[in-house]
Amino acid sequence: MRVGIVGGGIAGALIAWRLRRTAPRITVDVYTAGPAGGDATGASGGLVRGFERVVPLCRQAADGLAELRGDPALRSAAAYREVGSVYLLPAGAEVTEPVRVLEEVLPGSATLLTGAELAGHYPFRGLPSGMTAVVERQAGFLSPARLRAAALAWIADSGGTVRRVPVVTVTPAPALCGADGAAKGYDAVVLAAGPWTPALLTASGLPTGGLRVKQIQYSVYEGRPAGLGAFVREDTGMWGRPDGETGFLLGLPSDRWDVDPSCPQPDVALVDRVAEEARRLLGHPPAGHRPLRTAVSSDCYHDPPGLALREVCPGVFTFTGGSGGAAKTVLAASRAAAAVLAR
Ligand SMILES: Cc1cc2nc3c(=O)[nH]c(=O)nc-3n(C[C@H](O)[C@H](O)[C@H](O)COP(=O)(O)OP(=O)(O)OC[C@H]3O[C@@H](n4cnc5c(N)ncnc54)[C@H](O)[C@@H]3O)c2cc1C
Repeated sequence: MRVGIVGGGIAGALIAWRLRRTAPRITVDVYTAGPAGGDATGASGGLVRGFERVVPLCRQAADGLAELRGDPALRSAAAYREVGSVYLLPAGAEVTEPVRVLEEVLPGSATLLTGAELAGHYPFRGLPSGMTAVVERQAGFLSPARLRAAALAWIADSGGTVRRVPVVTVTPAPALCGADGAAKGYDAVVLAAGPWTPALLTASGLPTGGLRVKQIQYSVYEGRPAGLGAFVREDTGMWGRPDGETGFLLGLPSDRWDVDPSCPQPDVALVDRVAEEARRLLGHPPAGHRPLRTAVSSDCYHDPPGLALREVCPGVFTFTGGSGGAAKTVLAASRAAAAVLAR
């Protein structure tokens, strides 16, 4: 069996790596040379935790985190930093089932804190009454770019092929047509081209299956709020984590849909909104401070969200749709997707 994978982001690299590990009889070619512009994997904040409100996503994230923590080679390849995670929930949020999943997969990691307990432990200000949080000890952030680089090296070492050729179209044969003009047939083709996937499907005359592109942006400020690792505030969507030796990364969701992933354009108003919202919540960054840097990229979204293998037509699949969260789920999602392909 021969599988052709388009895209050498974290999704393409890990599904190829899983295939080589679980089914060495399968020939795997990964096409990595995409269009210009940084990809989602290179820009990613890399926050990883077990908690997600949606139970299947929670199980995926928790399983992936347990695998990462239990495998020293993976942990080191991904430059995992265990700084903990705080997920702030609005009053009345129902989290019994995801917290049960966390306890099963990562025993002793998660605690549910009330607003008063939160104020005692963390630098949050002005939280609405009734707000609670899921706090995880065994969580933090990793480098998707480093994990991708390691996976591509493992693929090449284990007999897979990494081709630095952009793919122009895919046909239902299934086959891939490279920019060098060569067409190559496979038993299965997987489009893991992240935010470039919808355009590649359209260029190939195939349906996009509801996949869309959305901008993601964050800024890094000098200095950090004391005692805080990674955090997400669900109602505003604010998120952040320590960055480098002394910086702190902060972001809010963007509302820019259907952007061109090859030409990311910073949303200046969003940079200001992030600083104002963070100042209200954390007292950081101090007034007048400009970011050290702002990262702008995009990801491929699907409704419902989730990195998963989706069939486009017989033999042609997409493996994308992480919707801004695939760093958390890619380990488990790639394992499941490789098992389906191998069957
Ligand atoms: C700014 C930002 C912050 C994020 N933060 C987090 C976070 O904190 N936690 C979390 O869980 N998730 C986060 N995410 C989401 C996560 O990083 C992404 O879901 C994930 O990296 C997507 O990986 P991918 O491989 O699907 O796409 P990409 O990384 O974009 O990779 C797609 C690859 O396909 C290649 N390609 C495209 N077209 C072609 C072609 N025609 N031929 C060959 N190759 C092609 C591209 O060059 C690219 O390398 C973030 C995303 C962004 C953008």
